[in-house]
Amino acid sequence: MLETLMRENIRSLSPYKCARDEAEGKGEVFLDANENYRGFTSFVNINRYPDPKNEELRKLVENVLSLPFENTVIGNGSDEIIDLLFRIFCEPKIDKVLLFPPTYGAYKVFAAINDVEVIYLPLDDNFNLKLKEIKNIIKEQRPKLTFICSPNNPTGNLMNFEDIEEIIKMNPGITVVDEAYYEFSKGRSCAPLIREYPRLVVLRTLSKCWALAGARIGIGVMNEELRDKMIDVKYPYNVPTPSSRLAIEALMKKDQAIKEIDTILSERDRMEKALLLLDGVVKIYKSDANFILCKINDADNVYKYLQGENIIVRNRSREYNCDSCLRITIGSRGENDRLLRALEEYVWE
Ligand code: PMP
Repeated sequence: MLETLMRENIRSLSPYKCARDEAEGKGEVFLDANENYRGFTSFVNINRYPDPKNEELRKLVENVLSLPFENTVIGNGSDEIIDLLFRIFCEPKIDKVLLFPPTYGAYKVFAAINDVEVIYLPLDDNFNLKLKEIKNIIKEQRPKLTFICSPNNPTGNLMNFEDIEEIIKMNPGITVVDEAYYEFSKGRSCAPLIREYPRLVVLRTLSKCWALAGARIGIGVMNEELRDKMIDVKYPYNVPTPSSRLAIEALMKKDQAIKEIDTILSERDRMEKALLLLDGVVKIYKSDANFILCKINDADNVYKYLQGENIIVRNRSREYNCDSCLRITIGSRGENDRLLRALEEYVWE
């Protein structure tokens, strides 16, 4: 059923299969993949290609994150899943995608790389979805992909769940709900809606709450038909063995990760209060994530000054409706204090 939305060449793709996909038994002697029969490092089995379907990790993802095994694809970061969605659904120069700025900057970059036109419909002044306009644009322009980021980057706020569901329900294209910062929020995940809405894709990542940005592990949750196609379209060995091992190790330390969320959230509260006491800080936007968007006088100069102090924050001043805004990730207590001290010492214009 989803096939009708896919690009013709992807629909008819005859995918690369390795001999282990075809094997019936479990296999004991592997002479099929031109690997070296032994490794030279301490890493067990690194001489072997990884499992293209990432089954061991996906089973743990089901147990720990409650994302059903049959519905997941592991990406090289969730960025890879985003790019795959463009490659599967969007015909270059013909199809369009819908974005709600200010939002995660990579969506438009992937659109440009894939030569796909973007329709921009900004969030309202409180950074919420403009439901009525969104529904009209979807009806009129039929975007292939519509990206909703919740909690949104760089604004930090959750989108209204009922609004998201209404969009998913009426959208004849694919609705992508990016939940990269889900674990820091008290929001409801859209992942369970997969059963009801085949055109929904939910994105998660182990780069944030699970502290594995360097391992590059993203999770796409989607209906089975799309899962099979995505496994065919991605690089067969997209997730290196050390990365999936690290992901398994991190997921097994769930209690530790959950405890760390509380620490980050209480640091976020402390930072919000402390930043508001500073002369040049105009506004702190309500955050449901592990960062805060801060409207500040003189943002460009403050940004440069902080760089001089060897403190890197994100300047989001050029983003829609984010004039003079810096995005500040919540770090360790010591790191946060260092930022506060530097801002206290800054001479405001
Ligand atoms: N989505 C959002 C909203 C993000 O902010 C990011 C990373 N900053 C990503 C996706 C990509 O994450 P990953 O490391 O899994 O590629």
